[in-house]
Amino acid sequence: MAAPCLTRSPRPPGLAAVLVSLNVKQAGDLGLEGQATPHAADILQPHEAVFLRSRMPDSLAFDPDPSLRWLFWLAHPDDEVAIAAWIHDRVAAGCAVGMAWSHRTPVRETEARAVADVLGVPEAQRWFLDAPDGHAVDHLTSLAAEFARVGEAFRPDRVVVPAFEQGHLDHDAANFLANRTWPGRVREFPMYHCYTRRYQTLNAYIGNGPGERREHSPDERRLKIAVARSYPSQTLWRNVVWYERWWRLRGRPVGLAHRELLRVQTHVDFRRPNLDEPHRSPVEASAPWRRWIAALDAFDLENE
Ligand SMILES: [Zn+2]
Repeated sequence: MAAPCLTRSPRPPGLAAVLVSLNVKQAGDLGLEGQATPHAADILQPHEAVFLRSRMPDSLAFDPDPSLRWLFWLAHPDDEVAIAAWIHDRVAAGCAVGMAWSHRTPVRETEARAVADVLGVPEAQRWFLDAPDGHAVDHLTSLAAEFARVGEAFRPDRVVVPAFEQGHLDHDAANFLANRTWPGRVREFPMYHCYTRRYQTLNAYIGNGPGERREHSPDERRLKIAVARSYPSQTLWRNVVWYERWWRLRGRPVGLAHRELLRVQTHVDFRRPNLDEPHRSPVEASAPWRRWIAALDAFDLENE
């Protein structure tokens, strides 16, 4: 087992340097400056009381405490786009930050490493697992051991993972495994939902639990756009552009680069979708959901 990594993350390159290096043009209208989230009254020390601390019902999702160690669990290289500005902000604040991905291919790993460089997450605090894309649910037991290994190596105070929202089975699997292997209350960020719909909703809360919203400074918006364009092997950038265009034409611009969303996860019954009607019933009747429940049954059998 690897020794706990206690190295303090180096400060990331300044946003201006990042943007120059990525040759990103100033994009879009510029609005409000980012606003810091109020500080929680919290006297517990990291590590010593991680369980108690993270179960405080009023604890913030975007917790500004610079002493916290943050682990970002991603299912796929490119999931980090949805929380990239916060990752960068935490590194800049002096927090120890780790990133881990359940899935990789050589190309996608290269793309993710380039983004981690931009965000300032050190090489020694990155982990790549080998879950096959789309099939993480078939490997829950072996992945749980790997999640636990990474958690023990990094010893995070905060764990952030894609939301349990029935958008992609790999995201739900990462969420389940983070909850299963870390004793604290996990933070979740929305990716998209839900897999029964032809047109999915991107990066919006669904289901139980109040969420926080962090507005971006103009530089953070440019960072988000730069990161979103850093995965040439994926269709992410094209999808985001079309999604934004679709809603702008309907008079409801979404501004995905303008903010990030994060909430303390309250829904931890993994045998129920975290969806209200009219989404819940179609999901419960769907093949992906049946596959999910079968995977949980197998996991329970293997871990009795
Ligand atoms: Zn993903």
